[in-house]
Amino acid sequence: GPEQPAALTVCGAAKRFGGNQALGGVELTAEPGAITALIGPNGSGKTTMLNSVSGFARLDEGSVTLGTTELAGSASAKIARSGVGRTFQTPSVPAGLTVREAVSVAAFAGRRAGLISTVLRLPRWRAEERAIAARAADVLDELGLGAVADEQALDLPLGRKRLLEIARAVAMRPALLLLDEPASGLSPDETERLGHLLRRLAGEGTTVLLVEHNMDLVLGNADTVFVLASGRMIASGPPEQVANDPGVLSVYLGA
Ligand code: ADP
Repeated sequence: GPEQPAALTVCGAAKRFGGNQALGGVELTAEPGAITALIGPNGSGKTTMLNSVSGFARLDEGSVTLGTTELAGSASAKIARSGVGRTFQTPSVPAGLTVREAVSVAAFAGRRAGLISTVLRLPRWRAEERAIAARAADVLDELGLGAVADEQALDLPLGRKRLLEIARAVAMRPALLLLDEPASGLSPDETERLGHLLRRLAGEGTTVLLVEHNMDLVLGNADTVFVLASGRMIASGPPEQVANDPGVLSVYLGA
């Protein structure tokens, strides 16, 4: 799990694209050790929210804090170094690496010691190298990718590319993991593995924020669900409460 569990707090998040108010002053909190889901119809602002947290979009107004660190306005690379991992709707995997290598590289990137201190302590580095390999193997097995570990990452079918992207984000041991439609293109079996993985991460203190259309995954795993509609947060609470909220139902039914 992450070295320092940290809550995500988004306050007054506003973002406009031209005349289109993608986020109209939105609040959201995601606690360490919990799976928080963000749902809502297409175009309601979910990806804009993830982009604003991860530095791929810049809010017009509002704050985004992870623990005590302000993220809003920082570049995506800096936010990633602050312990934020994310996956995208369209997965991308590195060229020229096997599945195992792709995850090991990510695990290496997520370690805390700098290169100099690593080189100065070679015996310790050997142990760390073994730990990185073991961590990569574990997450591959957990996501059912063990059997394709030695295949080229680029050769995987789409669903498995998505799982690999998730494995790479997890291998970096982020304090906050952001997932954009991770179950899309996954089989029911793969979706169930994903649910187990997310629960394991939350159990270790990771803050998990999940944007997802698959309601089985959301209702079966989320501790708290936030609902966006037209850039406004219209509901939040435990899954069973949100699923029975008349306002939420009417938004989904287009009423
Ligand atoms: P969701 O992820 O819930 O489908 P988005 O965050 O992708 O919603 O989009 C919210 C609104 O903002 C939509 O109306 C969308 O068209 C608009 N939008 C998102 N990104 C951009 C962009 N880069 N340029 C212009 N409009 C955008």
